[in-house]
Parts: sequence; structure tokens; C-alpha cells
Amino acid sequence: MNYNLCIIGAGPGGYRAAEYAAKQGLKVVIFEGEHVGGTCLNVGCIPTKSFARNAEIAGMMREAETFGLQDVQYSLDFQRVVARKDQVVATLRSGIETLLAHPNITLVPSQASFRDANTLTAGGEDYTADNIIIATGSVAKTLRLHEPAARRVLDSSDILSLDRLPKSLCIIGAGVIGMEFASIFNAFGVEVTVVEFMKECLPMLDSDIAKRLRKTLEKRGVTFFMQSGVTAITAEGVVFRDKKGNEQTVQADEVLMAVGRSPRTEGMNLETIGITLAPNGAIPVDENFQLVNSKSANRIYAIGDVNGRQMLAHAAEMQGIHVVNHILGRTDEIQLNIMPAAIFTNPEAACVGLSEDQCREQGVEYVCRKAFWRANGKALAMNEAEGLLKLMVAPDGQILGCHAYGAHAADLVQEASALMCRHTTVSQLADMVHIHPTLSEILKAAAE
Ligand code: FAD
Repeated sequence: MNYNLCIIGAGPGGYRAAEYAAKQGLKVVIFEGEHVGGTCLNVGCIPTKSFARNAEIAGMMREAETFGLQDVQYSLDFQRVVARKDQVVATLRSGIETLLAHPNITLVPSQASFRDANTLTAGGEDYTADNIIIATGSVAKTLRLHEPAARRVLDSSDILSLDRLPKSLCIIGAGVIGMEFASIFNAFGVEVTVVEFMKECLPMLDSDIAKRLRKTLEKRGVTFFMQSGVTAITAEGVVFRDKKGNEQTVQADEVLMAVGRSPRTEGMNLETIGITLAPNGAIPVDENFQLVNSKSANRIYAIGDVNGRQMLAHAAEMQGIHVVNHILGRTDEIQLNIMPAAIFTNPEAACVGLSEDQCREQGVEYVCRKAFWRANGKALAMNEAEGLLKLMVAPDGQILGCHAYGAHAADLVQEASALMCRHTTVSQLADMVHIHPTLSEILKAAAE
């Protein structure tokens, strides 16, 4: 059958593009080899945030006395934590299935691969389309060690479906996924150790803020070994060289590998269309997400994690919308260079635009304005005094970046991101009325 648009993968990139294209009148076929919703819904954003909410509540129970609640006792039923997460995922998955039941969309529940540059094959049928979007996401990376691991090593999907809570957990990697799980399992009462090769956690975040966040988790009992390279995973635990060069072993019931993700390109017969992958395994694309080095470059697009640009659900989604606009010959105002991101630790962290470190490294003229959670009325009323927001401001008052950690930091950074999209100056921000008392006053305070 011939369609206007074939989409491979029904994650946030693929299914949102399908929904949007169908509403614009395009005939769409979308292929999904596993579950609609992709990594984000099934084993990524949503399940981790469901766990994070359990962790937040467990943390609040520990603080019950601060709020005058005496003799509060609880125990954690981990199977119910997992069951609640499964329920949230199932509800959202059925919502996406409803979206994809649009009369202009055909959902094919099967792996798809290229037969040629115009034809995809899935479930024994061939499908041709005027345009093709590859939205196949990414897979968890693993470390190449000299010896294979002598025990089970979990990835971020496995840990979401454990049948019991481990007593101890060693996490390899202090990126977003590693830090979120460290925060969650620490709140669940698990002894958590993180081993990280780099000097600081969360490299995309302002280093000052990343350090403060790490110290906060340390105070809560998470042990960090920074500048430490893992050399082996034995039956006892994780062996690594610490920053002084000494060999150490972390003994742990479970080991989580959280060393990043690679674009998912296998099994699609990409050789047929002559794609040369980038060294990081990503599909190279231009500013409209069209393939740059394929035989049919002008009609084939790659969006989301598979192009390796910004491995975030909202990036995948907005890239997909932009591609559909491009197919329709429409211009849009989507600014993918202003890409906010959040880390859902407790407290959470978030960033958009340049960090102070990047301003310095790139020789950008800036001033850094700071505001602290401890000076905000709502934060103190919430017993959330820990937090710092930094606004990087250009000499003409334009906001260059906003990096923060503290309760609801993502919401504050989202406001900064919206202001950056509209080129609002810091003095215009200072003149904007903010509801009192709210955490958003922290952003205003930094602007003042
Ligand atoms: P995916 O969501 O990976 O979807 C790709 C889909 O394509 C999959 O369903 C796959 O089965 C399907 N597929 C692959 N190959 C084929 C084929 N040949 N035929 C048919 N179907 C195929 N991002 C955030 O923004 N916020 C977060 O809080 C966040 N938390 C995360 C937590 C974890 C633990 C992880 C792992 C990721 C998290 N992410 C988060 C990242 C986010 O999940 C991804 O950026 C996002 O899912 C990418 O969307 P996508 O559409 O590119 O790919």
C-alpha cells in the first residue's frame, strides 16, 4: 500500500509525528515492534517518575516529625511500587493506542526494515510512502570490560521490574539515569554506591550545581566514587580503580549499568539505503532531520534518540512535529536550540542554555545572577530550603542560560526557557508579576 508517511517506531518522536500528520490530513502508517509509547513511556521517563514519586513520599514520611506528625511508621512494599508504575504505564499506553486509532493512521505492530529506499517491509507486507521517518530510539550502552561480568548486571529497564528490593545497589555511571536511580533507591532505604569515571556527575549541568546536588545525595547516604574507572564486575561486586589509582571493590546485591545510550539502528537493513552512521552510531541528519548521506536523503528523516542530537522525549516529539511541517512545506517557530532538560532526583535539577562553565569556556561575556531556595517563603514553608538557581545573563540583558537544583527546579527552568524563546531580557523578567508565595519567585529574585 502507498502512504504519504511511513514512521518506524512509536515512541514520543514517532507517535506524536503520526498524530500530528494524521490531523493535517496525511495518510500515515506507523510500525512498532514492541509497545507504543517507546522507551519513554514503557521503560524510561514515566516509570522512573512513578518510582520517583514513591521515593518522594518515602522521604516525606521520614520528615514527618518536622511537620508535627508523631510516631509515623511505614514499611515499603516494593511489589506495590512496581504494580503502581505498571498501572500508570498501562493507562498512558491505552491513551496512545486511542490516539493512533485515528482514521488516517495504520498501526502495524511489527518490526520494520527497508526493502529499498521507497519500501518498508513489516509482518510479511510491503509498504511504500512518499516520506519515511526513522524514529527507532536508543538502547542502553554497556562497558567493555576485559572479562565478561561474572554476575547479573541490570540495565535501566531491568531495575524497573525487580521482584524485590535489594539491600544494596552499585550504580555504574552518574549521568541522568544513574543519579535518578541513586536518589530513588536511597529513598527506598537501599544502600547505594555510585562509581563514576568523570570528576563530577551530570556533565550537562553547571558544575557548581551538580556538585551541590551530589553533596545533598551524599548527606542522605549515597556513597560516590568519582574519577573511578570500573575494571571488572565479579560475583562479589564492582571492582574499580579510585582516583588515587588504588583498586577497590563495592559489594552489592545488585549492579546497575547506567553508562549512557546508543542510537538503535540494528535490524533495519539500513545498508540498502546507503546510510553511513556517525562514529557514535547515530544517523546523521541536517537541520530539518533529513538524512545527509543516503541515496534518498530528501525523503527520509531521522528523529529522536536515533539521530543522537538530544536524547530527550520532548526533543524527539518537537523534532517530529518539525519534520511533518517540513513535509507539508510549512514554516514553524520551533526553537530546538533552546532545549530545557531536567533530572528528577530529589531535589530535582534542571537546565536550559549555557552553564557558567560553558560561558567561561566559550569566552562569552556574561554575569551570573543567583537566588537560593532558603530565601524563598514558599520553599521554607515546604521545608525545602536546599537549592540554587543561576541565571547567566548577556550584557544586553538576554538570558543565556538557567541552571538550578531544588524543589520543582524543572518548572522554574521551564519558565526561563519560555522567556528565552521570546528573547525576554532579565529586566523584563524582573518586571513581571509573579504569584506570591511561589517557588517561581526564585527566578524573579535572580533577575532582580
Ligand atoms: P523511543 O522512545 O526509544 O521509541 C522508539 C520505538 O521504536 C520503540 O518503541 C521501539 O520498540 C521502536 N522500534 C525500534 N526499532 C524498530 C523497528 N525496526 N521497527 C518497528 N519499531 C521499532 N527523557 C526525558 O525527556 N525525560 C525523562 O525524564 C527521561 N527519563 C528517562 C529515563 C530512563 C530510564 C531512560 C532510559 C530514558 C529517559 N528519557 C527521558 C529519554 C527518553 O526516554 C528518550 O529520549 C525518548 O524515549 C526518545 O524517543 P524516541 O521516539 O526517539 O525513541
